[in-house]
Amino acid sequence: MLGEGIIKGLAETARNFVGSYVEADRLTTVQYPEERLPTKEAARNFPFLVFDGNDAHAGMRCVACQICEKECPPQCIYIEKSKDKKPDYVGKPQFYPKIFDIDVSVCMSCQICVEVCPFEAIKMDTEFELSNTDRFAGLLFDKHQLAKSNEYYRKIHPAEAAAVDGRLAAEKAKAEAKTKADVEAKAKAAAAAAKTAAPPPPKPAPIPTT
Ligand code: SF4
Ligand code: SF4
Repeated sequence: MLGEGIIKGLAETARNFVGSYVEADRLTTVQYPEERLPTKEAARNFPFLVFDGNDAHAGMRCVACQICEKECPPQCIYIEKSKDKKPDYVGKPQFYPKIFDIDVSVCMSCQICVEVCPFEAIKMDTEFELSNTDRFAGLLFDKHQLAKSNEYYRKIHPAEAAAVDGRLAAEKAKAEAKTKADVEAKAKAAAAAAKTAAPPPPKPAPIPTT
């Protein structure tokens, strides 16, 4: 019937208007920026680099493998690998990014960099207040601006971060067990080699006959 849709729409508006005085979920707007709705766990904007502990350099998970740089569709990631190495989260010496830039004015938030990273080093942020008057330098984020702690990651994506923490802890335990087994095997082999190389015990002197 002609006008039925308009009446339904007006009824919905009236329901929300009256309901907003008694039900919080009928409040369809908030007074931004004084008020903010909590971001959803699945929300995503631009990537950031995760680090463990308190030191962004020491704890940075990125090993500068450059897979994300190659796979990024609009090619907005730029990485330069370090010449030296630092221990990664399992203690293995790894390269790290000397330079890691993302041009967020070009990034299309596709999350492909996150999907391809083998080290759980890059994740999607929910931060959206990034307006800037400098379209070039102001939106080209370097590794210091991109580095955010694992605590921050846990705060914005709790379920996802818990799963990642579990995976990394299992990998670390496996690596530690392997190192321990290698050390034990080496010690055993060294002991066996020492035993073989040792001169045979002297023969007892013959008993003199009369
Ligand atoms: S989210 Fe997509 S476009 Fe943005 S840096 Fe990652 S791969 Fe590139
Ligand atoms: S973020 Fe991940 S995929 Fe990209 S360079 Fe670092 S370790 Fe490699």
